[in-house]
Amino acid sequence: MQNAANLPAAAIAARFERYDVAIVGGGLAGLYAIHRLRKQGLRVRAFEAGSGVGGTWFWNRYPGARCDVESLQYSYSFSDELQQEWSWPERYPTQPEILKYIEHVAERFDLVRDVQLDTRVLSAEFDNATAMWTLKTDRGHVVTAPYCIMATGNLSTPRLPDIPGVQSFQGDWYHSGLWPHEGVDFTGRRVGVIGTGSSGIQMIPIIAQQAAHLFVFQRTANFSMPAHNGPMDAQQEREFKSNYPKLREAARNSPAGIVDYPPPEKSAMEVSAEERERTYEERWRHGTIVGMLSAYKDLLVNKDANDTAAEFIRKKIRGIVRDPKVAELLCPTDHPLASKRPCLDSHYFETYNRDNVTLVDVRSDPIAAITPRGVRTGKAEYALATLVFATGFDAMTGAMHEIDIRAKDGPTLAERWAQGPQTYLGIMVAGLPNLFMVTGPGSPSVYAQMIMGIEYHIDWIADCLGHARSHGHTRIEAELDAEQAWGEHVQQVAAGTLIPRANSWYVGANIPGKPRVFMLYVGGFDRYKRRCDRVAADGYVGLRMTG
Ligand code: FAD
Ligand code: NAP
Repeated sequence: MQNAANLPAAAIAARFERYDVAIVGGGLAGLYAIHRLRKQGLRVRAFEAGSGVGGTWFWNRYPGARCDVESLQYSYSFSDELQQEWSWPERYPTQPEILKYIEHVAERFDLVRDVQLDTRVLSAEFDNATAMWTLKTDRGHVVTAPYCIMATGNLSTPRLPDIPGVQSFQGDWYHSGLWPHEGVDFTGRRVGVIGTGSSGIQMIPIIAQQAAHLFVFQRTANFSMPAHNGPMDAQQEREFKSNYPKLREAARNSPAGIVDYPPPEKSAMEVSAEERERTYEERWRHGTIVGMLSAYKDLLVNKDANDTAAEFIRKKIRGIVRDPKVAELLCPTDHPLASKRPCLDSHYFETYNRDNVTLVDVRSDPIAAITPRGVRTGKAEYALATLVFATGFDAMTGAMHEIDIRAKDGPTLAERWAQGPQTYLGIMVAGLPNLFMVTGPGSPSVYAQMIMGIEYHIDWIADCLGHARSHGHTRIEAELDAEQAWGEHVQQVAAGTLIPRANSWYVGANIPGKPRVFMLYVGGFDRYKRRCDRVAADGYVGLRMTG
């Protein structure tokens, strides 16, 4: 048996590594963390389970995968040269375009040399005596660092539904979040897609064009609007590029981290039905989610107001889908608009007018089993050659729960969060000193443009480390009282809105046994940023710095 004593010196150096900051994840967050912390003179290393950088955009290669924030906004802002020189070919970027961009950034800023690919972090333990984290990987690394950043992603743990027989299926099957790099050819095949969230809604129109027949298994109809995607508008690109600093600043000080329409001043209930119709029609044609949701100031807080926008979208669906029964099934009626993530699509509802597409309502007739031949509901069996799971993720907490994170002799993070995640600002956890999360539970996370949230968190963490070091502190820990107060605030803000009302992944409802706790801060990115800025300006209140 080998041990450190009989390994050659080089192998020992390769297996036992020491850095100032260990980063878990090589997506947009992990990469920016390397760049930002290096500038601060810190020795950093990121560990990434995938065989390439890019995170979400490395894994989610399903047909039609694209961002639903405009490319000029869904991009890093930290380098003006980068944002000036990069050209996005379309209004909404495709997955390959985003991946190309991330790979370019990783090369341009020489980040790749500090990413250890194909390496999964299995555990992270904090030793109170030495104030050091030790991370262990599935490739035998033992990494010590005073600080650890979990850049593990909110939507990085794909989930298969717990339908009996999943493994018995004898055709080909795929999950949207683990898509094969060589792609999938659906030509001439009988294909089933389970799931009509954002991933399903993007892939269904494209698979329908190839498949002999497509069966869509829908449990919950979703709100979706046309993206009106197209080639990049040269005028818009020029305007953005000549005003980037101002526009980025405006985005950081907006509720969704996106510049679009000015903030709404009116209630949907104080205008006439005709005026509402005109406004919704304009927003529908404009093609942004934030545009529709910000049409009136009370759409997310007043059910009557929300109903007006929801009914507008239902009318659109009824106008597009020719078969009235299918149209009715596609109309979301069981949750308020935006209580599940609304979608942007390209010809989604039109797809149901095709002869080779069948919508199977598995709300009224649930899937009983996956069989070797296909999908069996209570009433019928659908023979399939290919089955696609667009069934989502163990969101927000899944990736961190998969790592054994603890302070020595203390409970694991999963045990601490058994009743739902508790964090201070979505960045730190009481009892786990020197551990930081990027866009963690309790922060705006996916309720704002994510790259902006990522950059903000990493800058905040870098400043916090700088502050601690300049004051001679080696240990930074969230105070339990501050964490509890933040947790209560997050819940209180959410309770004042309609957003927690659906059985969504926002509340963990998609994972059997997961505690139902609303996991996002939905008070607006602008308010969140003001709060975090103030915490820092006041000397990091709520954090105990010692050592
Ligand atoms: P990720 O990109 O998820 O990267 C995390 C990385 O950590 C992954 O590569 C994973 O392999 C790695 N990792 C996790 N655990 C471990 C471990 N134990 N050891 C080693 N590595 C590990 N956001 C928007 O704002 N707008 C959008 O339109 C949008 N569209 C999306 C579309 C899809 C299909 C999905 C799934 C998400 C979308 N998002 C969108 C959210 C998206 O996740 C973020 O925008 C962003 O890419 C997150 O970057 P990240 O680096 O924080 O996390
Ligand atoms: P999702 O939103 O969680 O959707 C999963 C779908 O699978 C839902 O329709 C769900 O139905 C269905 N499902 C799960 N288990 C099922 C079962 N046993 N039987 C039948 N149906 C089942 O997952 P996602 O579509 O992958 O999206 C996740 C998140 O990623 C999005 O909310 C978004 O934040 C991000 N994303 C964004 C884009 C984009 O356009 N930019 C694209 C993809 C993903 P129920 O609703 O009934 O549970």
